[in-house]
Amino acid sequence: MEKRPHFLIVSFYIQSHVTPSLLLANRLVRWAGARATFSTTVSSHRCIFSTTTNPLSFGGLLSHIPYSDGFDDGYHPGMIADSDYYDTHLKLIASKSLSSIVGDLAAAGRPVTCIIYTCFSTWAAAVARHHCIPSVPFWIQPATTFAAFWHYFHGYDSLINANVGDPFFPVAFPSIPRLHVRDLPSLLTVTSDDPAAIHLHPLLDMCADMDSGRSSELKPKVLANTWSELEPEAIASVANKVEVFAIGPLPMEAAAAMAIAGSEVSIFKEDEKDYMAWLDEQPEGSVVYISFGSYCKITKEQAEEMAKGLRESQRPYLLVLRKDNRWDGRQSMPEREGMVVEWCAQSKVLAHRAVGCFVTHCGWNSATESLAHGVPMVGLPQWMDQGTNMWLVEEWGVGVRAEVSEEGIVRAAELRRCLERVMGPQGSSSDIESDSEIKRMARVWKERLQQAADGAMTKRIKGFVEEFALQEKVKLKLI
Ligand code: UDP
Repeated sequence: MEKRPHFLIVSFYIQSHVTPSLLLANRLVRWAGARATFSTTVSSHRCIFSTTTNPLSFGGLLSHIPYSDGFDDGYHPGMIADSDYYDTHLKLIASKSLSSIVGDLAAAGRPVTCIIYTCFSTWAAAVARHHCIPSVPFWIQPATTFAAFWHYFHGYDSLINANVGDPFFPVAFPSIPRLHVRDLPSLLTVTSDDPAAIHLHPLLDMCADMDSGRSSELKPKVLANTWSELEPEAIASVANKVEVFAIGPLPMEAAAAMAIAGSEVSIFKEDEKDYMAWLDEQPEGSVVYISFGSYCKITKEQAEEMAKGLRESQRPYLLVLRKDNRWDGRQSMPEREGMVVEWCAQSKVLAHRAVGCFVTHCGWNSATESLAHGVPMVGLPQWMDQGTNMWLVEEWGVGVRAEVSEEGIVRAAELRRCLERVMGPQGSSSDIESDSEIKRMARVWKERLQQAADGAMTKRIKGFVEEFALQEKVKLKLI
């Protein structure tokens, strides 16, 4: 029987869970000498690998075996009620499918020693318990939202529930004194009759699961896709109850993950337009890159306001408008001053010298990728963790929030104001001397993250695997 630890990484089907999970699997193998199996839904697996077989890499140490959620041709929100997706498709169908994967791996002489699951996949912890295997959640959002959910489920619920109507009501969690209601994850401020409230259930299950696994000697662990210097307060906030292994931010090496078994990492198909060649033609730091990630949609009215703002500020732009985000009549943004693509290789775009600003919905992957590439941001947070991420971006000093009008739209003039604050007045020189403070901070964080990537992250992943192995020995009373 094999001695090396074997981690089964279970990812929710959406892009922002898949990317860091693939990277984590990759790093557990390459940096810590472990074996890893990556598992997401059959439909997402097919999009990433264009096959249903099990692509192997790193001498077979990394494998990719999908589980079925009962929607092998693809699940889209709205197909069934979210509660049915969680309670029937994940807790029953996916659990059964994952359980057979665990059984098959054991029968093949590669028993799983730990299941790592992304948030919203807490059902995988029950599968682990059934097979008497430990499990660890992988928090793919910032540690600050983990702390917010943790405290909400441990006594802060009444205070938050009573003040959801006031966006500027201060919510001081231990060690995090400066948050307000609008900076909290949106799931904490929706009313219980809001359909989105169902997404709180797996998070409540996760915290309950972590509580039940706690013993006098061992605190529950969470792997967090963040870096201790990015969020020291959030990590301190839960430190006496939870051991946070800050192992990221992982997406900064997206290019490395693309080498995995020829995978593209993306669930979406890259646009055929040669947007990189177009970027090559643009002056340094001049282009505004706009994307709302893999899930949020830009309304037609918002896109028109954005187009107006960009036209008035006379800056070239590269806009991602996914296929599922075209409105009736297939209108798109005018392409005279810029380029519209359906999907791009975002890390490559952010690394391009022509990109001077990222107008983003502030998904955690997008925010940390931008930070890693030193690109300052204008944020238009929509929901989930994005308001918290926006707060962090402003705390780090690398971006500004575009304020919405009473109708909930960022108007053209507001976008222009934000672009000017980040990129400087149109036509200003792009030398370091005249750069805005925001641009300067973006450079500072880029350097800090590069230094951390050269060693500290490897150490933390190795540390996690070593501590995990030690803990198992303590439990089995082998030392
Ligand atoms: N992304 C990409 N190409 C695009 C748009 C997005 O590769 O055209 C990637 C981006 O690099 C990031 C992920 O999709 O890794 C989006 O994750 P994020 O957490 O930012 O947002 P979400 O999709 O969860 O809203």
